[in-house]
Amino acid sequence: MPVNHSEPDSYRTTDEVDFTEIQYREIIRIAKARYEFSSFTEIPWGRRFVLWRHDVDFSLNRAMSLARIESEMGVFATYFFDLHSSYYNVLEREQSALVKSVLGLGHQVGIHFDTSFYDIRAEHDLGEFLLREREVFELLLGCSPAAFSFHNPTELELAWGEDSYAGLVNCYSRTLRSKVSYCSDSNGYWRHRRLIDVLSDGDEDGIHVLTHPEHWQIESLKPRERVSRSIYGRADRCMRLYDETLERSGRVNASDIPECILKLAREDPVTSGCLSHLWSSGLYWAVVVELLRQIEPVSLRISEPGFGTKQAEEPALDSVKRGVAAGLLEGEAFSNDTLKAWAVTLSEAVLARAPSWAKS
Ligand SMILES: [Zn+2]
Repeated sequence: MPVNHSEPDSYRTTDEVDFTEIQYREIIRIAKARYEFSSFTEIPWGRRFVLWRHDVDFSLNRAMSLARIESEMGVFATYFFDLHSSYYNVLEREQSALVKSVLGLGHQVGIHFDTSFYDIRAEHDLGEFLLREREVFELLLGCSPAAFSFHNPTELELAWGEDSYAGLVNCYSRTLRSKVSYCSDSNGYWRHRRLIDVLSDGDEDGIHVLTHPEHWQIESLKPRERVSRSIYGRADRCMRLYDETLERSGRVNASDIPECILKLAREDPVTSGCLSHLWSSGLYWAVVVELLRQIEPVSLRISEPGFGTKQAEEPALDSVKRGVAAGLLEGEAFSNDTLKAWAVTLSEAVLARAPSWAKS
């Protein structure tokens, strides 16, 4: 029985609960109990099967996390990578290693194909461009794609319904679309039924499951925040790569950001990773307030009379606190140089309170 596609397109609160790694494991457990995991090239027609597909739009790192979970649970999926993604580059050294690691866990690879990159308007051109990308995968990534999926498919592309082009299984072929039920998490929510319900009912002969790895995070988040976390996680990694490269080659890493703040950002990226970004953006007040928040619950105490006068053993810190209170409560303006100096005092105080890594 095909999945019911008549239900409305809406965002439900259950969508936040669903998109976590813990729930992902539960979904895999249910799928594995009821269905045979299948590749796109050897579909076991006549048996109950699931085609487990990942279109990787934003994050290879998230893809790797799901690939590990699937491997641990004894199932495999097909990962569709996009050579023209604006958010990752499979040909980068670290990212191409991730692709190989995903394959090394027993998963298969597909091409997530963006026709708009080539401005393909006719079906007879599709095979030629797919062949080019297939060769890139084979030559530069050392792997053989089994299938392809359209990125943001249009009505025109969905009408190109052959089973395969350029020797690659077409995920949106007429055959698959007519014979196999489909459940997708596009844009980070279930447009129709929840996947866990579809799998739990277990009344499909075959299911084609599409998920996007960046939407499956450790914590429960709304879709935009999941994508944001993937994008900024990647940006942080790029920044660390830059710092490490200069350090390794013994070059000067000239920066306006004080070493104590860089150290906090480097050693405790979860809490302080935002500091260097805020500083680079000129948001010095935000740096000061964030550091003060790390020292004490500023929102509770800042309006108390005498804020910043109770710890005589830290006069520099107390002076900053009095200044912050004057700025936030009385609207007193301060120069960027003053705010930067406060940030240094505060970050040194955070480091002094931090675990052993900070003092080394
Ligand atoms: Zn896509």
